[in-house]
Amino acid sequence: MQFYSLNHQSPKVSFKEAVIKGIAPDKGLYFPSSIHPIDKEVFNCIDSYTHEELAFKMISQFVGEDIPDVELKRIIHDTLCFDFPLVPIEKNISSLELFHGPTMAFKDVGGRFMARCLSYFNKEQNNEVTVLVATSGDTGGAVASGFLGVKGVNVVILYPSGKVSKVQEKQLTTMGQNIRALEVEGTFDDCQAMVKKAFLDKNITDRIQLTSANSINVARWLPQMFYFAFAYKQLKDRSKKLVFSTPSGNFGNICAGIMAQQLGLPVSHFIASTNANKVVPNYMENGSYEPMKSVATISNAMDVGDPSNFIRIREIYKDDFEVIKKNVSSFSFSDDLTKEAMSKVFQESGYVMDPHGAVGYLGLQQYMKNHKDIQGIFLETAHPVKFLEVVEPVIGQRIEFPEQIKNIMHRTKEASFISNYKQLAEYLLIE
Ligand SMILES: *Cc1c(COP(=O)(O)O)cnc(C)c1O
Repeated sequence: MQFYSLNHQSPKVSFKEAVIKGIAPDKGLYFPSSIHPIDKEVFNCIDSYTHEELAFKMISQFVGEDIPDVELKRIIHDTLCFDFPLVPIEKNISSLELFHGPTMAFKDVGGRFMARCLSYFNKEQNNEVTVLVATSGDTGGAVASGFLGVKGVNVVILYPSGKVSKVQEKQLTTMGQNIRALEVEGTFDDCQAMVKKAFLDKNITDRIQLTSANSINVARWLPQMFYFAFAYKQLKDRSKKLVFSTPSGNFGNICAGIMAQQLGLPVSHFIASTNANKVVPNYMENGSYEPMKSVATISNAMDVGDPSNFIRIREIYKDDFEVIKKNVSSFSFSDDLTKEAMSKVFQESGYVMDPHGAVGYLGLQQYMKNHKDIQGIFLETAHPVKFLEVVEPVIGQRIEFPEQIKNIMHRTKEASFISNYKQLAEYLLIE
């Protein structure tokens, strides 16, 4: 399969090149040159397919010949080594728990899949690659864990100082080996801007092969399609219209859901739920896309002022505003409303939501005011323990640390502090 740049100024590339480059030379995101619905039988008879079989059916057309089937199956097998339970919360509302992987956030699947693809491509070439990634919290941990010990790949993670949770910071800064963390004086947007600048800096790119592991990378983005099929597989009653609410920041996850729909998964509507960073809810109201400076919220993994994947959603729907509006709704919720929802759900059903999942839950509730008879699923994108500082006071109870987290809390943080681009460039070139 070929991928073209959404800026249309760069040549088409294969899956392999799209993964290694991350972003096209004209700064555009890569997009598959065709999207073919898969055999109808697969979703009609979903009960007879395993997770791994579904994943293979969904992603193989995009990978094409760049990875042989047996290898791709092995990569999928290694990627999907945990569960994705669908937990009923209220009448017609369930939570799809995507946090049972090594770093307890949904980005584990994309991180693991991408790491294994790169490692496969590297086997043939023996060139060192540096993965440079900006994180608002969870990406860094998932990428660090996915790439830990992968030969030929160095990982450099930029994160905004003081703006990630304690657990997240431990996950970013205590891995060692081929993983290094840079603590940046600034916001997530500043981190992302520095990363983008490095990709365009010939001084750097002439000397080291940089790649990105943000959801702009097709190998991070596309495996997220699997979740939506795994949810559908677990539904007891498939007679109602299926609606997903995705807590959204860079809009990679929801865009992957829409790709799954394009492949034939019977989803009736998507809700892009956001915190106070509401560029997309504004767009859905007036059709004009105006990036904003991000503001800090309690759902920090979604503090994004210019969501990079939204352009892919526009591409899928041929940038037809009416079609987008028919398929996607978008709502924004304040921190106060988010905490209220966490507390209400905990009191009524005993279920603990993290702040991101809670935003997804709120989006579903908002939509269901006018669409009562649907089957609603919100994506619970992180384990509540990752946001202890927020969750414990709201529910008035302690949260037990799962094994994955217990193991890292006593480790010592190792990070270099930087405050501008020049320091990043120097850091990368010293190696
Ligand atoms: C990254 C992240 C999101 C946002 O996902 P996008 O694909 O960027 O929209 C939501 N919740 C959590 C916990 C995350 O880590």
